Formats: sequence, C-alpha cells, structure tokens
Amino acid sequence: MHDVIERSADVIIIGSGIGGLTTAALLQQQGISTLVFEKNRHPGGSCSSFQREGYHFDAGASVFYGFAENGRSGTLNLHTKIFRKLGIEVKTVPDPVQIHYHLPNGFSLPVYYDRQAFIDRLAARFPHEKKGIAEFYRELEEVYDILSSLPAGSLEDIVHLGGVGLNNPLKTIALAMKTFRSMGRTARKYIVDDELLRFIDMEAYSWAVQDAGATPLVNAGICLADRHHGGINYPLGGSGSIPQALCRGIEKFGGIVRFQSEVSGIILENGEARGVRLSDGSEFFAKAVVSNATVWDTFNRLITDSRFRVDDSRFLRAPSWFQLFLGVDASVIPKDFYVHNILVDDWNRYSQPGGTIYFSAPTLLDPSLAPHGKHTIHVFVTAEADDWEKYQRGSREYREAKDALAENVISRTERILPGLSKAIELKVLASPLTHERYLNRYKGSYGPLLKPGQNILQKPQNTTPVKNLFAVGDSTFPGQGVIAVTYSGVSCASYIARKLGKPLEYLF
Ligand SMILES: Cc1cc2nc3c(=O)[nH]c(=O)nc-3n(C[C@H](O)[C@H](O)[C@H](O)COP(=O)(O)OP(=O)(O)OC[C@H]3O[C@@H](n4cnc5c(N)ncnc54)[C@H](O)[C@@H]3O)c2cc1C
Repeated sequence: MHDVIERSADVIIIGSGIGGLTTAALLQQQGISTLVFEKNRHPGGSCSSFQREGYHFDAGASVFYGFAENGRSGTLNLHTKIFRKLGIEVKTVPDPVQIHYHLPNGFSLPVYYDRQAFIDRLAARFPHEKKGIAEFYRELEEVYDILSSLPAGSLEDIVHLGGVGLNNPLKTIALAMKTFRSMGRTARKYIVDDELLRFIDMEAYSWAVQDAGATPLVNAGICLADRHHGGINYPLGGSGSIPQALCRGIEKFGGIVRFQSEVSGIILENGEARGVRLSDGSEFFAKAVVSNATVWDTFNRLITDSRFRVDDSRFLRAPSWFQLFLGVDASVIPKDFYVHNILVDDWNRYSQPGGTIYFSAPTLLDPSLAPHGKHTIHVFVTAEADDWEKYQRGSREYREAKDALAENVISRTERILPGLSKAIELKVLASPLTHERYLNRYKGSYGPLLKPGQNILQKPQNTTPVKNLFAVGDSTFPGQGVIAVTYSGVSCASYIARKLGKPLEYLF
C-alpha cells in the first residue's frame, strides 16, 4: 500500500482479478504507469485465497494451466512467460492427474498427465470406439499445435494479426476454420457411443459449464490437450499466490494496487472514459480505463448512460456457485486419492443446478495449507442467484437453506470419500449471494457464455463501445478460466501499449 496516492496514471484498472492484474503488470513493466483499484482487501477475485482457523482455502480456481517450464512457445504457458518477464518467482508443484471423473454406471477415469495412459484407459472402457477416441483427441492436438506456434497478442491489433498471418499463413487459416467448429460436432464425426459422448460433454462442462455442443473446439484444444503437455501445476501457498505475485510485479516497476477501494462509477466526458470515481467520492484520471468487472457490472452499474446498457438477453449468463470450504481430519482421504475430482450421479441432471459436484483437496499437493494432520477440501456445485435472493442474509431461513444443500452435497460426496461428514472440523458455506458480494459479480455468475453455435470470435474483445474504455477478464475473449483471462490481459495490454506508442514485445 502506498501512503500517497497519485491522482492520475496512464492507465487505471478497475479490479484486481487475474485479467486486470496481468494487464497492469505488463503495461507497468513497459513503462506505462498503472493504478489498480480493488474493492476487497486482497487481490485475485475468483482466483484468491482466504484463511480460517489455520486452513487456507482457494476461493475459486484450483486447476492451473500455463506454468510449464519446458513448454512450447506461442499462446501457451503464459504464467511462466509473464513471471519470467517480471522477474518474479511463483513456485508450483505438478499434479499427475488433471481431474478424476466419477461418473454414473461405475465409470471412473483419472485424466493422467500421460496422454497415452489416459487414452488407453478411456479406450479400455469403450473398445468399440478405440479409433474414434484416437481421432477426436488427435484433432485437439492439432489445435494445440497451432496455438503453441502462434504468439499471444490482440486480435484487434492489425499489426499483430498481419504479422501472424504473414509469418504463419497456413496455421492462421487452419485456426480460423476451426473457430467455426464446436467440440461436440467434432466428437460426433468420430464417435457414436452415447455414454462416451456424454463423457465428452462432461469434459467440456468441467470448465466451460456448457456441453460439448456449445463449447468451441479451439477452447477444447487448449484445455484438453495442454493438460498432457504443460500439464496442471498448483502454486505453492494456494491460488492467491498468483495474484499476489502479479501485485509484486506491478509494484516492482512502480505501479500501484490500492485495496478496499471500490470504483462506483466510470467518468465519461463526451462519450469517452476519462477516469473513475471511488465510493468515497474521490476521482482519478487516466488516458485509458480498463474494467475487470463483468460486462453487466461495467455497463449497467459503473456506467449509467443508458445508450451502453447491456440487457440480459444479450449474453447467456452462466450460473453461480454454492461452495463448501471444509477443514477435515486427514485420515478421511486415502493416500492414492487425486486432488481434483468430478462426481456425477445421474446423467440427466449433470447440467442442472447442483447436478455435478466439483471436489478439490489442494493440501494433497501443498500440506502447508492446513494444520498438521488435516486437509482442506473445496466442494462446489452450480447454483442460481435467483433461487437464493428470497433469503435475508443472516436469517435463520438462509442458514437452514445453506445447511440443507451442504448436507445433500456432503452425503453425495461420501460415494467417493466415505466418512467425510464425520471428519469435518470446520465448515464454511458460500451461496451465490456470498459469491456476488465477495467477488463483486452480477448474480454471482461465472460469466457470460457463448450461445450454442456462436463462433468464439464473437466473444467481446478488449475494446468497448466507449472510447478509451477497455474490458478484460472472463467477460472477454477467450472466456472463463485463469489461463484464459491471463490471455485476455496479455491481449488488452498489447493493444493499449501500441495505442500509447510503446508496443510490447511478444512473450517468450
Ligand atoms: C468456484 C470456481 C471455481 C473455478 N475453478 C477454476 C479452475 O479450477 N481453474 C481455472 O482456470 N479457473 C477456474 N475458475 C474460473 C476463474 O477463477 C475465473 O474465470 C477467473 O479467475 C476470472 O478472472 P477475472 O480476471 O475475470 O476477474 P475476477 O476473478 O472476476 O476478479 C475481478 C476483481 O475485480 C474486483 N472488482 C469488481 N468490481 C469492482 C469495482 N467496482 N471496484 C473495485 N474492484 C472491483 C473484484 O472484487 C475482483 O477482485 C473458477 C471459478 C470459480 C468461481
């Protein structure tokens, strides 16, 4: 924290989510002054950590891509490249399994780092689809190969696009063609087995909260291929280590991150963004303003000019979450248990609120996150804010509703972890209302989703209808996920840096 706060900077960033911090860090390192305002006391938003009674919990994300050391170039391994550029270290530990799926009909499948081991195990369950499985996952590798050879930059920057197109004409055309394809349609080219197609849906749903038909092939090419290349790596100290390291990077180069500073409005003059107003009434000015808030919060709350209003029908709004943060006796988790698990009891309900259970026990990778002899467990299911808005916070009814859902989730989780309910020593529950309040996201939503059939390039980029106002984070291309919003930060910083006459070098 700085005692004297500058009243202006080249760029003001609203929110210290990973998208906002990445933008600020890259700009600041380039000599473009930045000022970040964050409502909370800590950075990271959906990728932050909090502590209760000696247990350290991840507030949201805990499966991380982008940290490979030996990784290929291009758009991948962005965390490694950014932290190298900033000269900041984030220690990570590799996770041998991305997710262990526990699906109906005794279908249990760990997604090993070793790609062949995963494919063999899947083919052993569906021997009649062995060829189709190989072909489908090979297509994802092709996307991965292209993305790992094209540099990360802004798709709105003509100089970047032109350079990429000229230097890699065939790969650029191939990638452009693939943006018209969905993961589900691609799967159906090779696979007919219903249960296997449901598994492919689940592979999409696990991070996109949409089935494979609505998930762009390009996204799948990163998430389902890079897990076998760069792999999944967990930051020691928990998810909050990533935003904290980005803040250190910003401050190292002279930028400012100011906490407990809520932006209440974006100052517009003649339809152009000039600065921001904080909830205490103070005003700050900049050449450019970047919003890391969701598209709904930015255009319906921070900007009151109705010409820019974003109504609910414009985007598909992803649900919010009901979360359980548990401190448990370590003896409940067997030695061979994997960190990240997904549990579905009924294929007809997996995409309904609460239908899929996400389960992580990060202390299996970093025991320092819990007191000796204990584990932290993060369990969450989708939930709709609309179903919770009838409750008054702090009321008995609200507490009872949370307890009832928690009990349901815990008893279903006992299928993979017998004895869980008896092993719980600390239980913190968070409804969509908590999510909305702490993460400052409209309806606590996971963010806007593409409508089925939409091309991924239809996702909003970093420029907005308001001059000098930019957007970053999971409301922008390419979408949800820590590595995705990191990409959006790289793209936003690249665009603004060129506009301000100090273009960024590509990340290597
Ligand atoms: C339960 C859950 C599990 C997830 N699991 C994973 C996972 O395993 N792997 C993965 O890659 N991704 C995961 N994600 C998704 C990932 O965490 C998000 O997509 C990503 O972190 C969003 O980053 P963002 O840059 O959009 O900003 P956000 O995380 O939304 O942060 C925005 C920040 O801006 C601040 N802010 C907003 N408005 C204002 C204002 N007016 N004034 C000041 N500050 C403001 C907020 O307080 C917040 O700190 C998960 C998300 C959730 C919720």
